[in-house]
Amino acid sequence: GGGPGMVIMAEPVFEAVEHLRRNGREESLLVLLTPGGVRYTQTLARELSRKKGLILLCGHYEGFDERVSQGLAPLELSIGDYVLTGGEIPAMVVLDSVVRLIPGVLGAPGSLAEESFSEGMLEYPQYTRPPEVRGMKVPGVLLSGDHAEIARWRRRAAEERTKARRPDLLDPGAKG
Ligand code: SAM
Repeated sequence: GGGPGMVIMAEPVFEAVEHLRRNGREESLLVLLTPGGVRYTQTLARELSRKKGLILLCGHYEGFDERVSQGLAPLELSIGDYVLTGGEIPAMVVLDSVVRLIPGVLGAPGSLAEESFSEGMLEYPQYTRPPEVRGMKVPGVLLSGDHAEIARWRRRAAEERTKARRPDLLDPGAKG
């Protein structure tokens, strides 16, 4: 409740962005972090990873004067339906998720394609050694060495897990 709190003024933000644009960031995509933005997803992370660069605008207090959005037309992103104190942590979320998709950043890029959300599904369960831990066994097929069978098992396990935990990923109409 109460009246309006502190809001970040528009003019200093325009000047900051113009300064960056004049100093090597002319091709960077302008992003503004706000709970009122488009919900950030892995699909957006992939798109952002192909840009020449990003300028991330972090709010604080009550956020920005509306004319920042009006005048700069940034891509407005929300990292989820909750409110943080400032945009710094959302900016780090975007940064981390984007940078790890840039070729050469991760050691073993082969695993990226099978990660959660990359195929619109959660990832299959993963195991390491030994084959039995406290009575819990690694599914036999994974020890079989039959790569086609293993791939089939993983596909089915990913589907089952997604259906159970995140049915909205399979049927976007059924959110919630
Ligand atoms: N008055 C704003 C509202 O109701 O939408 C909330 C402002 S929040 C306290 C302060 C700043 O944190 C925002 O300007 C934004 O940069 C950042 N922020 C907070 N939650 C966020 C979220 N879920 N996604 C992205 N940025 C967020």
